[in-house]
Parts: sequence; structure tokens; C-alpha cells
Amino acid sequence: MSYITTIGLEVHVQLKTRSKMFCACPVEFGAEPNSHTCPTCLGLPGALPVMNHEAVRMTVITGLMLGCDIAPTSKFDRKNYFYPDMPKNYQISQYDMPLCENGSVPLHDLAYPKDAQKTIATPDKEVHLVRIHLEEDVAKSFHFESSTGIDFNRAGTPLMEIVTQPAINSPEEAFAFLTSLKQLLIYGAVSDADMEKGQLRCDCNVSVRPEAQAELGAKIEIKNMNSISGVRRALAYEIQRQTGALERGEKLRQETRGWDDAIGETFLMRTKESAHDYRYFPDPDLVPVKSEMLLEEARARIPELPRAKRTRFVEQYQVSSYDADVLADDLELARYFETAANGAKKPKNVANWILNDLQSALSSASKTISDCPIPPEALDELVNLIESGKISGKQAKEVFAEMFASGKPATKIVKEKGIEQLSDTGEIEAFCDQAITANPKPAADFKAGNAASLNFLKGQVMKLSKGKANPQLAGEILERKLKG
Ligand SMILES: [Zn+2]
Repeated sequence: MSYITTIGLEVHVQLKTRSKMFCACPVEFGAEPNSHTCPTCLGLPGALPVMNHEAVRMTVITGLMLGCDIAPTSKFDRKNYFYPDMPKNYQISQYDMPLCENGSVPLHDLAYPKDAQKTIATPDKEVHLVRIHLEEDVAKSFHFESSTGIDFNRAGTPLMEIVTQPAINSPEEAFAFLTSLKQLLIYGAVSDADMEKGQLRCDCNVSVRPEAQAELGAKIEIKNMNSISGVRRALAYEIQRQTGALERGEKLRQETRGWDDAIGETFLMRTKESAHDYRYFPDPDLVPVKSEMLLEEARARIPELPRAKRTRFVEQYQVSSYDADVLADDLELARYFETAANGAKKPKNVANWILNDLQSALSSASKTISDCPIPPEALDELVNLIESGKISGKQAKEVFAEMFASGKPATKIVKEKGIEQLSDTGEIEAFCDQAITANPKPAADFKAGNAASLNFLKGQVMKLSKGKANPQLAGEILERKLKG
């Protein structure tokens, strides 16, 4: 029997604001535990929340980037539950009136795992969203051997929750969704979306049903995923586990599971019977949000999105569409390319150097484009040296390696090494004349139709110029002289 997988994701994104959602405490990763707290984010009685407008704007920006409907009015609610990471016993969130609804995330080929890019089931798929709402993060618990420590630095950090339709059909699509979403969040400067720092976290709902069955299978949630590749592995495991159970005739029930990345298995956390009733009600301390006033400002901050950038790179710089895809895939790389290509005669050559030599040098040095030792202008200078015939392609590789190692500019290295190619036609002509006069036989052979003799003469010119003559120019001049 064949089975259909249905996956929906709930993604939590930490917004890149300077201060917390409802107080003035700074948002800073890695600070001394409990150093960024105040009565509001500690949940002390009587402390009043004050809304962070920038967090609301960033959520609206995200909504606009993803084509969501922005609610004219939204409000904040209290989600009640009792847990040590939230001493006021409720989290401020949004329930029935979220800031954004609908919208979608387009999945791009390069967003899929590398080994799955050639077998994409639905090319150009868009994953539709249910909603995006804004809430405050809770404190972070650290479990020690015999005690638990709680760090309130994270409590009250603005958190966006993005909920997809159950419209994802494979672990690879879930991977592509998260990668594409992360890219858009970085483009929009609303979050660094660094999963290692917990800035992007994800819960996965996954169900499997026989193909002939119309209604969805039992919804099983995998909580607190903190890496994109982990999401792929956990879903693959869970699909196999659920399919196996159905094949054995077992009945699956709605439950919440965790993922143990070390052993590569999910485990039961709780069943539906123990599900919370959050008793949502509007937070009386906060006024509803009218988004109209925020919209204009948010619209002005919408950047050029990856898809538009890819198209523009092809049109403006005549790079191949694949190269444009790779360049636009990483915003920093795209910026590097545009700075290097600015004013370049052949931006395509600049792209080639970035995508081949530079990328491989960066990866073998375990560096990223943001700590690249060669500034973009310096790469452009190197490409210009090749294009103007001052150095050969082979010499350029040597110069490039030196630039990468020392950070010195290309012209300086060329001068120091004395490898500048001779492209002065007058000087090369003189060498050509000498070569022809000294070697009458090969010259005559070439005139008689022996094309190979030209290479011999070219070799002589190179020897006379001590290897500095531009070989292409030397060949052209010899040919002109002998045929003329
Ligand atoms: Zn605070």
C-alpha cells in the first residue's frame, strides 16, 4: 500500500530588535545569565507591559514579504499555563486576531538538501501559510544534575510564530521551506535566523495516511527542533515509524513527541489527553494594534527579494541563471558580487572568479564571505588585469592565491613578483621581427602552409621576452607579419 505524508510547521523566529517585546531590557545572545531583566520580564506582580513598536513593524514587514494579509486591527491575548520558565503564569501572545494571515513561502531549488536537488517532486512549489503572530519568548531552563537553572535574559524577547498550512509533503520540502524562510528573514533584516542561537526554532506536525483515505491521519507533533537538517531527519524517521505502525494494523493517536538527534529517534512526550487548555483572553494591559499607521513605513523597508534579485542579476550582469541563483542565495555573497561587478567590463568573469576560485578558497580555509580576506574591489582589479592582458589566466591563479593568503592587492603582487605580462604591441613586434629573422626556415614553412611552425616562432618570442610577452598577442602579430 502507498501512503501520503502531510506536514505542517510552526516556526518561532526571534526578531532582531534592540530591546524586548514589552520592556526596555536589551536583547543580547550570550550575556551573563539573568543580567538583562526587570520587573516586567521577570513577571513580577503589578509590572505593566509597554509594546515594542519595532517588533510589530518587523512582523508586518515579514507579512508583506510573504504576501500575507495584514490585519487592520490585531490584539494581544494571555495564554495561561503554569511553568517555571514563565513566573507570571501566562505568556502574552495573539490568539484570534493575529497580525498576519495567509501568504506563502516560495521554495527555491537551491533551498532543498544538496542530494535532493535533482529529484524535486513539485518544482516552484509555494507553501501556503495560515498566519503569523507576535508573542513574547519565555525564559530558558538549564537542567543540571540535581537542579534546574532559569535564565530570564530570553524572557520577553519578541518572537514571531509562523504557521504553515498542512501543505508540505516530504522531509525534503520541510528542509526547503525552512531554508527559504530563513533566507527571506535575513533579506528582510528582521532576524538573523541563526538556529544555533535559538533564533529559529520549529515544531513539526506530521501525519501519514493510506492513499485511499481522504481524511488526514492522526496528527503527531515533534517539538523543539533546532536544526534544519535535524527536522529532515526527524521527519524521515517519524514517517517511517508511522507507516510501519499502520502496516502492522496499529492505530495511531494524536501525541507530542521529542527528537533525540544523537540516537536518531523520536520519543513520546505526551498524549492528547494531557493537552493544555490555555484559557486565552485579551490582555487588559495592552491596547489593540492598528496596523494602518505602520504599513507605509513597513512597505518602505521591504527589500528586493531573492527571486527579483536573481532575475535582475541575469538581466543586468548577463550571468547565467544558475550563477544568479547561487549568488542571490546568500545575501552577503550577492552584495560582494555587486560591489565587485560595479564598473567591471565583464561582470560574468567576476562572477566566475567568485563562484569558482573564491568559493573554494573560502571553504578550504573554513571562512565565509563575510570574513573574506579579499575585498570585492580587489577581486575586480584582478579580473581587470586579466582582461586588459596584463597577466595571463595562469598567472592570475598565482596572484589570486597570494591575495587570499596576504590580503595584498593584485597590482602590488604583480609588481613584486615581476610577472606582468608584456602587452605593448610595439615591443612584441620587435621580438617577432627578431624571431623571424633568426629562424628563416620555420617562417618559410609557415608561409608554405605548415601551421605548426607558428608555435615554434611563438616559443622564440616568449624566450626573447623572458616569458613576459602576451602569448595571444605574439601569435596574432607573427601571423599578421608572415601572412602580410
Ligand atoms: Zn525586562
